[in-house]
Amino acid sequence: MAHRATVLGLRERNRAVVLRHVLLNQPTTRADIAVACDLSTSTVTNVVGALIREGLAQENGSVPSDGGRPIAQICPAPGGAHVIGVDVGEQGVAVELFDLSLSRLDRVFRALPRRRSKPGQVGQVVSDAVDAIRTANPGAEESLIGIGLGLPGIVGQDPVGGVTLYAQSLGWEPTSVDEMFASLGLRIFADNGAKTLARAEMWFGAARGVRHGVVALVGRGMGSGVISNGELLRGLSSSAGEWGHTKIAVDGRECQCGGRGCLEAYAGGGAIMDRWREAGGTCSGPLEQGLEKLIQAANGGDPTAERVLAETVDALGMGLANLVNLFNPEEIVVGGWAGLRLFQARGEQITHRLRVDSLARPAEQCRIETCRFGDDAVALGAALLPIEALIDGSIPSPAVSK
Ligand SMILES: [Zn+2]
Repeated sequence: MAHRATVLGLRERNRAVVLRHVLLNQPTTRADIAVACDLSTSTVTNVVGALIREGLAQENGSVPSDGGRPIAQICPAPGGAHVIGVDVGEQGVAVELFDLSLSRLDRVFRALPRRRSKPGQVGQVVSDAVDAIRTANPGAEESLIGIGLGLPGIVGQDPVGGVTLYAQSLGWEPTSVDEMFASLGLRIFADNGAKTLARAEMWFGAARGVRHGVVALVGRGMGSGVISNGELLRGLSSSAGEWGHTKIAVDGRECQCGGRGCLEAYAGGGAIMDRWREAGGTCSGPLEQGLEKLIQAANGGDPTAERVLAETVDALGMGLANLVNLFNPEEIVVGGWAGLRLFQARGEQITHRLRVDSLARPAEQCRIETCRFGDDAVALGAALLPIEALIDGSIPSPAVSK
């Protein structure tokens, strides 16, 4: 479900590392796989042959070699499996269909009825959107291996085997994910939305190859995915990385979570607009437009807008410095619509604040990058959850299980 610790035998482990390499490095060759996965050529030949028989890989043309004999290119077999990824955001639900090459084949977006939707309503909207995408793509049905959900809150594995969503900032009681999405009739995988976005950045984006890092997201709220030894850090019950609710003030501003002094209550997109409004600024409509207006006003010399923006820079820089001091990352990848826009407008000042508030040694070791994907990779990252299960063998290949 949300994650698993599987002890694989040697054959399964070789299959897993080769399949992962083929999915991440398309096209590749048998020789490249042998070097990258540290396997003998004969092992690679066997494993690739098995993956081709499983319908998961294919030879796709060839490239000339120095010796004259052409070398076959190995790719994922696109139709070998299909997955659905879902981004459950505060405004709406995006449902996306991918093939095994991780190409997006289709997308359905449904707005949520109102901002504070209840779990049952959200489950229904997701279910309708998933039905719509499956109806429109009947060819994917036979090899549909599961659905991954990026959810707004802590997604925890229960000791008894279920998965529970703790969406405290939405005011929801702990909610059973299995019950919320039972009507889908598919294998369900779920994780926190920030963690699925971090996973997409780790596979295909700015955090690719990073062993120790943080993907730090600033949207309406704030979250992060902490990468430790190449894996997402989870903690006891998956809440590790709830960066937005780390404290930067004693008895400070009230946060969506009900607590006070949280970073998100200062530097989250919603809180920035609240602070500007309280300072006398005028903003209405979508938050993205509000932030744009604030930045324009500050750049135009409006002292109130400049003060609100400068405080935001300080809060965000301080929050990032806390990540540096806690995790000693080689790289912090900043993303989310507000994070990207703030970095574009005031990246130098944010980075300066980060350096001032960090310990010198970890600060000089840490690169600051921006996300490759905007907010629209939550569904891609969620779709990687069933793909990971296919890789480690806990989901059988559709062609084999027929
Ligand atoms: Zn909070």
